[in-house]
Amino acid sequence: MNNIKQFVNEEKIEDILKNLIKINSTQPDGNESDVVKYILSIFKDYDIDYKEINHGKNRSSLIITIPGKEKESSISFLGHIDTVPVEDYDKWIYPPFDGKVKDGFMYGRGSADMKGGVTATILTLLYILENDITPSYNVKFCFTADEEYRGMGVLSIKDTKALEDSKCIIIPEPTDEKLGIAEKGALWLGINVEGLSAHGSRPDLGVNAIEYLYKFIEEFKEKIQREETHELLGKTTISVNEFWGGVGTNVIPTNASASLDIRTIPGCNHKEILQIAKTIADDFMKEIEKLKINIEVKNNRPALEVSKDNDLIKTIKEIFKTLNYDTDYKGLFFYTDGSQIIPDTDIPFIILGPGDDKMAHQRDEKVKLSSISKMAEVYITYILEI
Ligand SMILES: [Zn+2]
Repeated sequence: MNNIKQFVNEEKIEDILKNLIKINSTQPDGNESDVVKYILSIFKDYDIDYKEINHGKNRSSLIITIPGKEKESSISFLGHIDTVPVEDYDKWIYPPFDGKVKDGFMYGRGSADMKGGVTATILTLLYILENDITPSYNVKFCFTADEEYRGMGVLSIKDTKALEDSKCIIIPEPTDEKLGIAEKGALWLGINVEGLSAHGSRPDLGVNAIEYLYKFIEEFKEKIQREETHELLGKTTISVNEFWGGVGTNVIPTNASASLDIRTIPGCNHKEILQIAKTIADDFMKEIEKLKINIEVKNNRPALEVSKDNDLIKTIKEIFKTLNYDTDYKGLFFYTDGSQIIPDTDIPFIILGPGDDKMAHQRDEKVKLSSISKMAEVYITYILEI
């Protein structure tokens, strides 16, 4: 059997990651089928069991399965192959689709989030195939489209029930080589207020939509504030990230709307938060005739957490120790594809991947090549050990 460290060398990583970065899979078009085609081309010499899920318009997701000795359960990897767009192309130090290497880092859109993690899983798969290994359990590698938008890829994988036999799910999103055991939830609300217009000089005759909108927001913020603090994720937060309304200085506005981005910690119940919003809106509407407040849920993903005592976490931690890597835990402030699968199934998970999560969605996004090699080493060791 090949020595793992030698196998996951930076030369191989550079080659695969550069090819992945050169394929533009930015949202909203995604074009993830081009990435799927490339991934399949890497394994053309092997007789692999795969399923490509076609979403149309050159978009698809991919599941590759390596059969294990135990046929009834799987270790599953879940990673996305789309990226966020590039907004300031000319301001990047190196072109975002070139895959330039400098001082041990590769630069490019998606390098950290998360083509670096995808590269580490591809290497893991290559190692199993080249060494003709039959793992104890099936190993499933899921590459999803559309994670950065509506999660079309992971939702269609959920429909196939392919992940239901998972013993555990490994999410190779960037965690800076730390053990990701929690992620924040997200509840995005659109608040639309309709009032009554009047001349700017006669506010007494109108119902000012903007003023009621900010009164609503103030009261809502106050009522959902919680003392609870999570050791890795801090507090539940709320941020007003969009606000529109008004037609002119001298007109009492009829319409106003805002978007609120609420990020929750485990244990914070989204239904309760929604109920608070609805109660405040109802109270306002009862009090003011001609006032309408509509609440729209734009995104609703619960927070996730796995216990440090879970076997998956304990085993990975032991592997880290054996390899002499730091065993810090981490909580992720953003959500992953896991939030679409894990809450309904309670499958143990870990978010564990190369790259600094603060690099995600940034200009001059980069990932350390040695970090990809380390994470591939951990994935392979885990599959061999379990
Ligand atoms: Zn990501």
